[in-house]
Amino acid sequence: MTKRPDLPAEIARRRTFAIISHPDAGKTTLTEKFLLFGGAIQMAGQVRAKGEARRTRSDFMQMEKDRGISVSASAMSFDFGKYRFNLVDTPGHSDFSEDTYRTLTAVDAAVMVIDGAKGVESQTQKLFEVCRLRDLPILTFCNKMDRESRDTFEIIDEIQENLAIDVTPASWPIGVGREFIGCYDILRDRLELMDRADRNKVAESIQIAGLDDPKLAEHVPAHLLTKFLEEIEMAKELLPPLDPEALLNGSMTPIWFGSAMNSFGVKELMDGLATYGPEPQIQSALPRNIAPEEPKVAGFVFKVQANMDPKHRDRVAFVRLASGHFQRGMKLTHVRAKKQMAISNPVLFLAADRELAEEAWAGDIIGIPNHGQLRIGDTLTEGEDIRVSGIPSFAPELLQACRAGDPMKAKHLEKALMQFAEEGAAKVFKPTFGSGFIVGVVGALQFEVLASRIELEYGLPVRFEQSQFTSARWVTGNKEAVDKFGAANKQHIATDNDGDTVFLTRLQWDIDRVGRDYPDVTLSATKEMM
Ligand code: GDP
Repeated sequence: MTKRPDLPAEIARRRTFAIISHPDAGKTTLTEKFLLFGGAIQMAGQVRAKGEARRTRSDFMQMEKDRGISVSASAMSFDFGKYRFNLVDTPGHSDFSEDTYRTLTAVDAAVMVIDGAKGVESQTQKLFEVCRLRDLPILTFCNKMDRESRDTFEIIDEIQENLAIDVTPASWPIGVGREFIGCYDILRDRLELMDRADRNKVAESIQIAGLDDPKLAEHVPAHLLTKFLEEIEMAKELLPPLDPEALLNGSMTPIWFGSAMNSFGVKELMDGLATYGPEPQIQSALPRNIAPEEPKVAGFVFKVQANMDPKHRDRVAFVRLASGHFQRGMKLTHVRAKKQMAISNPVLFLAADRELAEEAWAGDIIGIPNHGQLRIGDTLTEGEDIRVSGIPSFAPELLQACRAGDPMKAKHLEKALMQFAEEGAAKVFKPTFGSGFIVGVVGALQFEVLASRIELEYGLPVRFEQSQFTSARWVTGNKEAVDKFGAANKQHIATDNDGDTVFLTRLQWDIDRVGRDYPDVTLSATKEMM
């Protein structure tokens, strides 16, 4: 990724990013503090309070709460200084990883939160690898420094080793656990002191003229100062300084140390994102890529969420604008459907509430309410036949048969399942032989969420049962070869929710056999959504 100096100011000031973390590392708390310092909420605690109110509306949300996971994703926009931040939320639980993957196609950077006592955890590693696939710039926040944490060098080493990325300290912690007093801001030579008495108070900031400045000793107790000076000397020798280019191409991550709960280190992280984070980037598409500064509007759907408001059975397509200056009321071409859509009531997700979006720029996320026309992977343009690429659909890892409790309700069930398929919450396969549906997901928890949502939103009790199949592969090739293959393997053939042909099996051996016996047919575990 490179800086594009010629971006219009409105676009250049946008920072569109996601926060990734292992559950419990502090993503929610950090999000809340971002909103607080972005002026989007008045008081910490509001995000959670708001979440709570929404959740009580349905048992599904209750389930989310009980499990302490965040299933529904959203986007939040707020200003920070002269910058506009677009924070796109990702589900933390690994069973929703496909959702997260697609969300990461819509951002230009990721903030990786790790727990200072735990370091790189399993989910951090997985999410990091997804970012790596796209060379996303990553800024790291080492949280919970107010508690006993690991040695600073050890944390940095662990990130470098496990994630194979260069780490540069943007700040350095002084004291550990109960003795933690704050950080030295390496990028700006400032001492930031944490206020333990008031969690929402921003740290006291003291300008320091380099590490020899006697002012340091006025604020840092002697025993902590000696250790700090030793460490920072060593850090300067052993660790690379910040290289903005390397940050932008994803090969180096700056790390800030702080405590989200105590509002400490958060502003510095936000400043870092504003100053060094990427502007809206070029979007890969076919037959040509889309540059953010192009005057015409183009955007793509990376997420669809149904029933955001239980009172209205609407769906909202989350669209990342890839180029141009969008204005409410614009007519855009839905490229897949070859139809025009008047976008008359788009919403911007301003932290506290949805608001009508009068205008938006490349880099922004807007929500477009619709009745199912817009699907994940769809591109909207001002007429050009161009489609955003790189939004994958993954073959599910778990398959189960789904039946309606009441057999008379099969049609109802189909409708419900199709809706969830279009939301990206599951893959739905209709076998050529037999009745019923086979539902595929990435993590077992998704079956539970689906069953509970189908019952709640459609009043339809359903059963998930073991399926005779365990794997699904998309079948591609020329039509004749695919038809011949299908005819000879009828028991294994199904169509997915887009009508594409799928091969179902329980044996890897079967998949290998097809490779040998049908050289003109390809079985693949991913499909591009476009
Ligand atoms: P998430 O699961 O990643 O969204 O994590 P949360 O933001 O919900 O935080 C998990 C727990 O860690 C909560 O109990 C928070 O209050 C706590 N927590 C978050 N930040 C800090 C911090 O800076 N210090 C301490 N001691 N606890 C924190």
